[in-house]
Amino acid sequence: MYAKRFLIVLISILVLISCSSDIPEITAVTGGIPIKKMGKTLAHEHLLVDFIGADSTGYHRWNKPEVVEKVLPYLVEIKKLNYKTLVDCTPAYLGRDPELLKTLSEKSGVQIITNTGYYSAYDGKFLPQHAFTETAEEIAARWIDEANNGIEGTDVYPGFIKISVERGPLQPINRKIVEAACLTHLETGLTIMSHTGPATPAFQQLEILKGYGIDPSAFIWTHASDEKDFNKLLEAAKMGAFISWDKFRPEDAERYVEFFLFMKKHAALHSLLFSHDAGWYKPGEPDGGEFRGFTDIENYLIPALEDAGVAQYDIFQVFFKNPVEAFRIKKRLIGEE
Ligand SMILES: [Zn+2]
Repeated sequence: MYAKRFLIVLISILVLISCSSDIPEITAVTGGIPIKKMGKTLAHEHLLVDFIGADSTGYHRWNKPEVVEKVLPYLVEIKKLNYKTLVDCTPAYLGRDPELLKTLSEKSGVQIITNTGYYSAYDGKFLPQHAFTETAEEIAARWIDEANNGIEGTDVYPGFIKISVERGPLQPINRKIVEAACLTHLETGLTIMSHTGPATPAFQQLEILKGYGIDPSAFIWTHASDEKDFNKLLEAAKMGAFISWDKFRPEDAERYVEFFLFMKKHAALHSLLFSHDAGWYKPGEPDGGEFRGFTDIENYLIPALEDAGVAQYDIFQVFFKNPVEAFRIKKRLIGEE
């Protein structure tokens, strides 16, 4: 156990030396951070989600001190497990609260990354009215404004673009949201994380990116574990997209290990992200409902990978290196390095 920890620390130090730049390339809610400070990362979690819908949600729906009291211990818990960064994937109109995230980050010492963008799945239930009437350019202008000037008058800036599409073929509203994400990427270099699921909408989105000259490495195929065909996932990985298996639960360990080994075998481990999609303080429920912590990967998946003979270096790749590459802010154009 200690030897293993020592090895991880040693590798971390080597990486720190090799990436010595102090330029902030990742944007957390507390400000820019250099990539060497990102550390071990959970790439897809939620501290709070409000499912009431875009027409009724708002900051009146939760009491910030109550949320902090409930959620903080779960961040402290992962801090003790050496996690340095948590990516919060709750978009606007679904409970994104930049000031709450900043408070939680400051109190816990865990770096938190938030987002700009809109969630267009579920027949637009989580879209503001203007998303239906405005053009992709007008919507993108709002997101670019958040990236340039902060979210809603705060000093919190988005670190990526979070969108979502329906699970089937893309609907016109989904297309418009993806186009807005492309325009925002071209202006800001923020990565596009899209709640997607199966392969059909994933490849349709990559096609839209291509139309804008954007490299697939600007795209995170989120909830990719919903796609059963490993070869489709590999195909997207070979194109350059990040493949996010982000709903880990203890009973999934075998399948996650299987996919990990598959990606390793096909030299595609650099595309893989693992996370829980856990958390979820739920406004409207007593005391925010049942909160799921962020330790199952540490307690079940890492040991299962080790039992399968996976090298610490490869585990390190998925939890340290890949998040850096996925979330570093950089315009990724086709044909450019
Ligand atoms: Zn999620």
